[in-house]
Amino acid sequence: MRAYDVVVAGASVAGCSTAILLARQGLSVALLERSPEAGAHKPLCTHYIQSSALPVIERLGLAPLLEAAGAVPNAIDVHTRWGWVREPAADPAHPAHGYNIRRETLDPLLRGLAAATPGLDLRLGHTVTDLVREGGQVRGVRAQDAAGAAVSLQARLVVGADGRASRVAALGGIAGRTSPNGRFFYFAQYRGLPEEGGRSRMWFLEPDIAYTFPNDDGITVVAVAPAKAGLKAFKADREASFARFVRALPDGPNLDRAVRVGPVMGFVDWPNLSRIPAGAGLALVGDAALSVDPIWGTGCAFAFRSADWLAAAAGPALAAGASDAALAASLSAYARHHRAGLAGHAFHIRDFATGRSWRWPERLLFSAAAHDEECARDLFAFAARNIGLGQFLSPAALLRAARVNLAQRRRAPRAADAPALG
Ligand SMILES: Cc1cc2nc3c(=O)[nH]c(=O)nc-3n(C[C@H](O)[C@H](O)[C@H](O)COP(=O)(O)OP(=O)(O)OC[C@H]3O[C@@H](n4cnc5c(N)ncnc54)[C@H](O)[C@@H]3O)c2cc1C
Repeated sequence: MRAYDVVVAGASVAGCSTAILLARQGLSVALLERSPEAGAHKPLCTHYIQSSALPVIERLGLAPLLEAAGAVPNAIDVHTRWGWVREPAADPAHPAHGYNIRRETLDPLLRGLAAATPGLDLRLGHTVTDLVREGGQVRGVRAQDAAGAAVSLQARLVVGADGRASRVAALGGIAGRTSPNGRFFYFAQYRGLPEEGGRSRMWFLEPDIAYTFPNDDGITVVAVAPAKAGLKAFKADREASFARFVRALPDGPNLDRAVRVGPVMGFVDWPNLSRIPAGAGLALVGDAALSVDPIWGTGCAFAFRSADWLAAAAGPALAAGASDAALAASLSAYARHHRAGLAGHAFHIRDFATGRSWRWPERLLFSAAAHDEECARDLFAFAARNIGLGQFLSPAALLRAARVNLAQRRRAPRAADAPALG
């Protein structure tokens, strides 16, 4: 049985990031990926990577590779019933931007970076099938290679970076908690749609949602997320319904000038899912720990960030040859960090995913953001997950928004009072 410090299951965003950051601390890391193809990628993703992931992307040394591959530094404008809210220039307190980069570009880049990392053993075509245990402690994995041969690997720590349907979590007895999603979701890639100076756009149509994301290689992703009440009619002719929905968007993209590249893909049911991210000799990162409604485009950033938190918490303990108890303490610290960083966001995303009508603080803050740059800056800092729910909904933020709206109401007479034109 070959022995490593760490075995990571899954070589996508979370797994590659975790493995690279741990190997750079001098640890021996096996990174096992079910797919045998170095160029494989996750097709079901619209790959808007929030700016909150930028520090990790830079720490990995990935940013120059992304830029050389044509990644689009992202900024987004959102359409609301109060008009367009434009993302202002970045607040110096927060990362300047994230990236739009197709997964078919991103995933092989990440895997290449992992393969070139000293101390990291990338094993493609290896599917984790079981955990090796000693008492209650996880001590490694059993896997099957591409030829079907059984392989056993020993490790102090096993990391489940194997996505939403995490086999590692199931084998480790870590159950998932789910909550319903009131929307379905379809998207397609187009050529010939580089509009709005390369900016991304999102429509909040209450409850329906849509967005357009310009990406590398001149591709724009167009996505729609309508409320489930319309699912049956939409599905009757998916492609025609998709095009009709996009053409009806206020100031929407001009599909007549565009060519669709590839199918209209998506899902009809995507419950939010969360798991406790640590066990005895076991940790979960990325979607294996938290997989929420994609309309907020947070999954990749959460994958990068959770990888970083785990590597920072467990790496030094493993490098110091810590006891099982000390390793467990470092994994508990990771779980606390994960909760502190993401539980508030997950709460908001789960609540919003029901398709409910907007709550008064959302109406207050979004309407103010349409008229005031500071309110807009707070809104985008929250959407990019650079600030938490508490700061977004702080009394100071609500008070400022109320003042902005009051001033706006004084400036703009109600439609009924407005002078008739013509
Ligand atoms: C429709 C849709 C749109 C989305 N849009 C966005 C967006 O715009 N922005 C954003 O940030 N996020 C988006 N997401 C979410 C994003 O795709 C995920 O959050 C992200 O891919 C999670 O990365 P991960 O590394 O945790 O898991 P994954 O990317 O799912 O990777 C898991 C890896 O584990 C491997 N694996 C699985 N089982 C095993 C096993 N037993 N042994 C070995 N390997 C295994 C898989 O082959 C895979 O490579 C979207 C999701 C959906 C469904």
